[in-house]
Amino acid sequence: MRRFDYDVVIVGLGPAGSSLAYMLRGSGLRVAGIDWVGEDRVWGKPCGDAISAGHFDRNGLPHPSGDALMQVVDGALVYSPSEEGVIRLVGERAGYIIDRNKYGLMLLREASKAGVDIYLRTRASHPVIEAGRLVGVRATSEKFGEVEFRARVVVDATGSGGAIRRKLPEEWPIVENPPETDFVVAYRRIVELDYDIDEPNFIRLYFNVDIAPGGYWWFFPKGRRIANIGLGVQLGRGFPNPAAVYKEVLMKRADVGREVRVINEAGARIPTRRPSKTMVWDNFIAIGDSAYTVDPIHGGGMGYAMTAARYAAETIVEAFTNGDFTARGLWGLNLRYMRTTGAKQAALDILRMFLQTLSNDEIEWAIRKGLAGMEEIESVFGEGELKMTPSFLDKVSLVVRLLGKPMLLAKLITVSEYMRRAKSLYMGYPEDPRGLDEWAGRVESLYDEYKRRVGIPF
Ligand SMILES: Cc1cc2nc3c(=O)[nH]c(=O)nc-3n(C[C@H](O)[C@H](O)[C@H](O)COP(=O)(O)OP(=O)(O)OC[C@H]3O[C@@H](n4cnc5c(N)ncnc54)[C@H](O)[C@@H]3O)c2cc1C
Repeated sequence: MRRFDYDVVIVGLGPAGSSLAYMLRGSGLRVAGIDWVGEDRVWGKPCGDAISAGHFDRNGLPHPSGDALMQVVDGALVYSPSEEGVIRLVGERAGYIIDRNKYGLMLLREASKAGVDIYLRTRASHPVIEAGRLVGVRATSEKFGEVEFRARVVVDATGSGGAIRRKLPEEWPIVENPPETDFVVAYRRIVELDYDIDEPNFIRLYFNVDIAPGGYWWFFPKGRRIANIGLGVQLGRGFPNPAAVYKEVLMKRADVGREVRVINEAGARIPTRRPSKTMVWDNFIAIGDSAYTVDPIHGGGMGYAMTAARYAAETIVEAFTNGDFTARGLWGLNLRYMRTTGAKQAALDILRMFLQTLSNDEIEWAIRKGLAGMEEIESVFGEGELKMTPSFLDKVSLVVRLLGKPMLLAKLITVSEYMRRAKSLYMGYPEDPRGLDEWAGRVESLYDEYKRRVGIPF
């Protein structure tokens, strides 16, 4: 068996892993990135392909251009169950629909030019642990056969399967098993349609629990005639399979069903929850879906994966400067992520559970009466806060009267309070690994208490 020695080995070259490879180029470290796919399937996991422009600026990554940019997005249309209520969210050049494969390949080529070794068609099978310490991963490569990649730091960026992480010793705190209901299963098709899409620069999101319970369905134009259409459904509650719903329900719609050809179809799981309680352990880092760094409300994970990669790159450089690769030496990733994006994710996880209990009637009126207007959405997605402003309370009171459900107002106030508490718990993430157990216990208690108070049935 061949053995390759590196400082860092990144397993999985999707948005998380290839962003990290790109960010570590020029760091002076010997970095290897491995993925089981070939060039044609880099970043090949099914996705809606939508990403906010801000993620590229924030993380120092090139904006998509040329073939990698399929559509500039200037806004979103959010539809109520009846589709009579529409919220129009506008923001010029707010985001993009990308060609994931082309963008991912561009990052890998840049990383490779600067000295990062990229091994495609190379499948990692398990971590290598010697004397209780993680020293690398075992892999099978089409080119080299059985290979052992040895490294000071092993990064699991293998997506929601967590191929390396779930094979680490169970007693390591990095191993976690969240409930199924914290995940969504999503299916999407990329199709060519036989008509011109109106306003291709607007993505559409449809909330309807009869079609996509615990999630939503979407229509994202990729130019005039091509669209990425799909739906996500909460797992663990016996809801129908999204691929079947697509074929039986969405295909009957005139806008969806008029397909000339299916360019690609696939489904996958998405973690829609708070991040894992730690993203690091001795000689180990998890980023991206493997560490649940995804927006719990809309399930967008590419941008958060890039953010996690940036913090991981900073932490790795710091660990090599200090020569400390223990959980303590890598703790900087937790501090950087949990106290910022992680805190927002934790708050949004509270809101996510509440939204997953709403009926179509409740969603209908919330959208029709503008409960989720631009101001609220900016505050929720920007800061992870649901602010009880006088104008918001006025709108809630109106909806509560229309629905004849006085308890809804009290529930929303509770949701807002627990969002604040969850965020503040994550902002106070422990300074070092010794505080982890106590902190994680407080997090679990907070979520349990919240579920009891609001009546979350899962
Ligand atoms: C249907 C659907 C729609 C979505 N829509 C959007 C959207 O519009 N916008 C958005 O931002 N997010 C969206 N998401 C979420 C987004 O796709 C993920 O959050 C994102 O891809 C996570 O990136 P990642 O690098 O962590 O994981 P992945 O993209 O899953 O990449 C993991 C990589 O690891 C490789 N790998 C796995 N196991 C091994 C192994 N053993 N050895 C070697 N390599 C391995 C895989 O081949 C893959 O390349 C969607 C998800 C789904 C399922």
